[in-house]
Amino acid sequence: MQATEQAIRQVVQEVLAQLGSNGRMNGSGSAHGNGDWGVFQTVDDAVAAAEDGFRKLAERPVSDRVKIVQCIKDLCTSQAEELGRLELEETGIGRLDHKIQKLKIIALVPGVEFLKCDAVSGDHGLTVTEYAPFGVIGKITPVTHSLPTLASNAISMISGGNTLVCNPHPSGRLIACEGTRRINRAIYEATGLENLITILDNPTIETANEIFEHRGVRIICVTGGPFVARAAMQSRKRAIVAGPGNPPVVVDETADIDNAARSIITGGAFDNNLLCIGEKEVFAVESIFDELLNAMPRHGGYQLNCSQIDQLTKLAFDPPKDGSDHHVLNRDLVGKDASVLAEMIGLSVPAGTDLLYGETDESNPFVPEEQMMPFVPFVRCRDAMQGIELAKKHEHGFGHTSMIHSRNVRTMTIMGREMNTTLYVKNGPSSAGLGLGGEGYLSFSIATPTGEGVTNPLTFTRQRRCAMVDELRII
Ligand code: NAD
Repeated sequence: MQATEQAIRQVVQEVLAQLGSNGRMNGSGSAHGNGDWGVFQTVDDAVAAAEDGFRKLAERPVSDRVKIVQCIKDLCTSQAEELGRLELEETGIGRLDHKIQKLKIIALVPGVEFLKCDAVSGDHGLTVTEYAPFGVIGKITPVTHSLPTLASNAISMISGGNTLVCNPHPSGRLIACEGTRRINRAIYEATGLENLITILDNPTIETANEIFEHRGVRIICVTGGPFVARAAMQSRKRAIVAGPGNPPVVVDETADIDNAARSIITGGAFDNNLLCIGEKEVFAVESIFDELLNAMPRHGGYQLNCSQIDQLTKLAFDPPKDGSDHHVLNRDLVGKDASVLAEMIGLSVPAGTDLLYGETDESNPFVPEEQMMPFVPFVRCRDAMQGIELAKKHEHGFGHTSMIHSRNVRTMTIMGREMNTTLYVKNGPSSAGLGLGGEGYLSFSIATPTGEGVTNPLTFTRQRRCAMVDELRII
């Protein structure tokens, strides 16, 4: 009996030794034992662990990267309900159904199959171009999709053979850290590899800047608004910048009006209009303007009148400060449900209302500002050319996303050329530009000012050429 008790005590002591002070598993076997399945207290420790993870990953066959990608996709799919709920509880923005959907669609992000190898053979020999990793990549994630961005980036970066160190948005750090722990644990169980994703437990602007400056970090990739985009572009490292947008929609007299209304609601209401690609303002031509407004309720829209729009505008924005032209967005309204925005102005809207909308002129701050809430302003235009002109003005040259609803090929082409946006969607919701109901692949980081476009595994690789000089041809 005594011997049995002693054996049990020993097992318990062994288990406790493997448990951290907070009851979570330590990164067992890690060269950097102060990590908690990839969650670190300092930038130096997180980068050192990611460097170690990179060296070990480099020794493994590419087929291990396939297993790792599958671990991330399986986890995001099977735990989407729980993780989506945790993200919503922590950030307080967006919609539960769409938080869950954003994790489930991680399965559509391309992985190792996207890598390629180019070869040229000729009289002088054979030259092979391969796509090699950079090493440790510094990553900044937004609050609007904390874990989905991290998971999507991890798939692209690890497929390319890299590891990453993440400075999450402080208001979405708990879910980003919990997702990192779970993903790293799944990867460890499948491959024995650790710290392919590392993350800061207490991220700040200072830790972001430390990552930007760190010698162990080879390149940076940031996803966020204008301030972080500017900070990354000023850093001395190569930066892949997925910056802000303010996507306009033009609707002309040849459009399928019902499809236009449905598309504006599908894209503009998704996760309460948090997506950087989501429809933010509509410029519709006079001849179909009223018909378009009247089509919106059939798809979950609720029209506000002038005084209701005025009330909401006063709550959503403060006047410009310090000589700036920009109204100041009230972050308390960002990502709230349409019914909550309506309640704030004393209105009760029918169940199933996804999006509020109404007529404004272009001076209403909802037009030039990226509101990230489910109210979309509609501006009446003389003709399609005026709509395109206003769309260009209010996209501010971000070069992010624009949409048109038209059957006139010439008008569509003129707008495509004028806007010069990274995503340009014709006759569908913005999400079609990311392969959701349109063709193409998905990513949660669309590199706009730096030009890489919808990021994928090749975005995070270096081209390396190997030339063999000889008579190698078999023909
Ligand atoms: P945000 O700019 O407030 O924060 C983004 C991240 O940058 C956070 O981690 C934040 O802590 C950090 N940050 C902010 N200022 C910084 C600075 N000066 N130095 C270093 N780090 C800094 O944005 P958000 O509210 O989290 O996300 C919404 C914004 O992100 C919108 O503008 C949206 O359009 C954009 N976005 C773009 C894409 C894309 O793929 N292009 C995707 C998602 C979101």
